[in-house]
Order: sequence, then structure tokens, then C-alpha cells
Amino acid sequence: MKIEQEQFNKYVKDNVFKTLNDYELIKDDEKIMIGVSGGKDSILTLHMLCQYKSESDINFSIEAVCIDEGICGYREHGIRSAKENCESLNVPLTIYSFKDEWGYNLDDIHDLYKSTCMPCGVYRRYLLNKISDSHNCDKIATGHNMDDEIQSFLMTFARNDRNKFPKFSPVLDRIHENMVPRIKPLWQLPEKDVGLWCVINNIPIHDEECPYSITSLRSDVKLYLNKLEEKQKGIKRNIFNSFKKTFRLPTKQVHLDKCEICGQPTAQSPCKACKMTREIKEKMSDL
Ligand code: SF4
Ligand code: ZN
Repeated sequence: MKIEQEQFNKYVKDNVFKTLNDYELIKDDEKIMIGVSGGKDSILTLHMLCQYKSESDINFSIEAVCIDEGICGYREHGIRSAKENCESLNVPLTIYSFKDEWGYNLDDIHDLYKSTCMPCGVYRRYLLNKISDSHNCDKIATGHNMDDEIQSFLMTFARNDRNKFPKFSPVLDRIHENMVPRIKPLWQLPEKDVGLWCVINNIPIHDEECPYSITSLRSDVKLYLNKLEEKQKGIKRNIFNSFKKTFRLPTKQVHLDKCEICGQPTAQSPCKACKMTREIKEKMSDL
């Protein structure tokens, strides 16, 4: 068992370090913010970046942020696991909530939209960028694994949203001085291996499904892909490799303005988060 565990850990580390090295995700003197939810993907990202920091020649610093959306009975467990792991690895952690920023929790607004993931995603992306930028971070590392990336890509097809194709990459360019680019160290690692790594290494993680995830298109796409994989092993890797070969489009240069309300960079002012906040406040006052 010990040898199998060592072999598996080596496989995971080699996979993640290869992505970090091949795509030069981290450069000397950079400050990296890791988005930590407490789930398996972000916890593995945290551990791998700490290992990379101590083993590679690249000199960089790490901190972490945990966004508390305000999902009662769910998010508290994730925050506990984020704290535990950050403390054991000596990584400074900032916790910031939707309630701190907007005065309400996701639970308070979940039924205003068909899919709760929509407002959640807009607000989470907004806060991740705002906090990383205010901490002068050069990049945000997220826990997106290979399965997440295939799902995202298929969803852009389903929505006919060709503009998002260039996001299919483990690293995005900085397109504005206040827009912190993302890196995805687990880009080529299948989800099942992420979970297995946490289990065999006894890593404390938050392993529950978000109660709102069933409202998302992503959960349907995920189920469909898992069914295909069950029928024909290797199909997810094949889809991923086909995308990788076919769709490396150059990042389209976009001009970003400042949001007239919050000052954050945006393609169109007011930014999505401020526009949504206005809508939410109107809907809440109508109730
Ligand atoms: Fe937010 Fe949806 Fe993720 Fe739940 S599943 S945390 S609602 S994006
Ligand atoms: Zn704004």
C-alpha cells in the first residue's frame, strides 16, 4: 500500500508540475493568490503549490482567499477545511463573504434566478479579482481540473458563446492592470485522481455537494460525461486532447473600462456584479 501511495503521489505531482513548467504558470518574484473553497480541488492546488515552492528554483510567494457565499449548512464546513489546511501549510488565509460586500447571503437571493450558480459565479469571480488585486497578487490559482475544463468547454458550445473559447487554457494573459490573470495547475489532472489523492493522503477536505449545484447546466454536462466515460474508458481524455489540439485560439484583445459604480475593470459599465446587485435590490424590494 505504501509503495502504491508513493507511486500515485508521484504521478499526481508529475502531472501538476508538468503543467506548471510547460506553460510557465508561475514566474520569479510573483505573488500567487490561491482561491481555496475547502473542497478537494482547491486543497490539492494549495498543497501542490506549496510543494512546488519548496522544490522548484522559482522564487514566489503564496497566500489564499476563501469566499464565503453564505450557504447555510454547507460553506461552514469548507471554511473549516480551508483554515485547517492553510494553517498546517503556513499559508496566510483571507476569508471574505458576499454578506461583507453586498449585505446579503447567497441563501437570501437563491430563488431570484433560475440557476443559483449564475449570481454565485458572478459575485465569486468579482470578489476573487478584487481581493487578489488589492493584495497586489500577480495571479490567481484556481482548482479547475481536467473534467471542469471539458465541462466548461462543452457549455460554451451549448450556449454558442464563442468568445469564451480562448479561456480554454491553463493560463490567461493579463488584459488590464486591475484584472488578475488565472492559472489552473490541475488543468490536465482528471477529477477522480484529485479525490483519490485527498483520500489516500488523509487530507481534511470538505466533500459535500453544494445544495444549489443541481440547478446548473454544469451538473447535467458532468453526469453525461461520466456516463460516457463509464461506457468507454478514456473518452474524457480524448475530448480534452481534441480540444487542446483544435481550439488554442489567441486571446482576443478587449478594451476594458472602469465600472462607473465600483471602479473595477469591465467590458461594459456598470460591471456584471454591480448590474446584478441593482437587479437584486429591485427584486427584493418588490417582494
Ligand atoms: Fe455557487 Fe453553484 Fe458552486 Fe454552489 S454549485 S458554490 S451555487 S457556483
Ligand atoms: Zn461594478
